[in-house]
This record gives sequence, C-alpha cells and structure tokens, in this order.
Amino acid sequence: MGGTFDPIHNGHLVAASEAASRYDLTKVIFVPTGVSAFKNRQIVATPENRYLMSVIATAANPIFIVSRVDIDRGGITYTIDTLKDIKKDYSDYELYFITGADAVSQIESWKDYKQLFSLAKFVAVTRPDYAVNCDIISKYSIDQLEVPAMAISSTNCRQRAARGEPIWYLVPDGVVQYINKHKVY
Ligand code: ATP
Ligand code: MG
Repeated sequence: MGGTFDPIHNGHLVAASEAASRYDLTKVIFVPTGVSAFKNRQIVATPENRYLMSVIATAANPIFIVSRVDIDRGGITYTIDTLKDIKKDYSDYELYFITGADAVSQIESWKDYKQLFSLAKFVAVTRPDYAVNCDIISKYSIDQLEVPAMAISSTNCRQRAARGEPIWYLVPDGVVQYINKHKVY
C-alpha cells in the first residue's frame, strides 16, 4: 500500500486490514512515498517522520511492515518503480497493490500505468466521499473491496493538529504522541 502517510491514519489501517483478511495476505507492506508527482508542495512532514509514524502505527500488527524503498530511492515516486523494487525483495510472492477509490481514478496519469497491472493485482478500496470509477476498474480488471467507511484524511489530520484540535482515535495513539512530541504539524 503506497501513500504519503502524512500522517498515517486509521482509514489506511482499516483498509489494509480488510485487504489482508479478504486476500489472506502474508504481509501488508506500507510504502511511504519519496517526493509525490502529484502533491509535493502539500507534503508537510519529512520523509523520516512519515516513515517513523508509519512504523509506530503498524508496530503491533505482526503482518504489517513498512518499506523504505521509495524514500531511499529518492526523487519523485512512481508506483511502477515501487512495484519493481518490492518484486525484487519478494520475488516468490504474488503482489497486490491496495489503493483507495480516489487514487484509482487517477491511475491513467501514473507513469507506465499499463505495465502496473502485470506486476500486481490492483485493489480499489471504498472511501467515503469518493465514488469508485467503474470504467477504470472494469477496463483494468481492478478488484473493488468494500471496507468500513472511515471518513478520515491525512489533510484533515494535519489541519486539526496544526490548529491544536484533537486527532485522538483518528490516528493510532503512538502517532498522536509522536506528532505532539516532535511538533510535526
Ligand atoms: P492526503 O489528504 O494528504 O491526500 P490521504 O488521507 O488521502 O492523505 P494518502 O497517503 O494520500 O492519504 O493515501 C494513501 C492511500 O490510502 C490512497 O490509495 C488513498 O486512496 C487511501 N486512503 C486514504 N484514506 C483512506 C480512507 N479513509 N479510506 C480508504 N482509503 C483511504
Ligand atoms: Mg490522498
């Protein structure tokens, strides 16, 4: 599951947990982006802080892990490179790419998008306020997965944290504490 994770929130975690259950996944690898091609100016936390918040959020789940491939590669993150790098590390595994309804609608603007579908099975999870683009999912045989509706976004968490409003229960407790301790937002 790729994302800026600025910060990681419970919507990401529920989506990952549902996909793991539905597809009987061995692991879920959270991959924080390096520079995003689409929202670089909006990324607030440093790559290191986004990585560490992801580690804190996933630490208690035995099948959740965090990969540094996109952060360490540096530069703009393209999912095609993410998948190729993950494939190198997990060559014996079948890959699934978990993505939200909003992201999947943009997929035709992703670099080498036609190649993506030969590297991984794409799963579009439902997300409140975003309709799953039926044309896209049928065109590329993307699975749609209904997940419990979590109306949470990182943008809203950042705004709330910056205004001193609570983010408890929107993000894991350790992430709240990390954000406060390091004044991330
Ligand atoms: P931002 O507001 O900064 O864009 P975000 O909450 O959308 O943050 P991202 O890091 O952009 O989080 O998302 C990573 C992936 O998780 C994307 O595929 C996105 O669609 C999906 N996702 C994010 N939030 C949810 C949610 N609440 N429910 C389901 N999927 C989600
Ligand atoms: Mg987003």
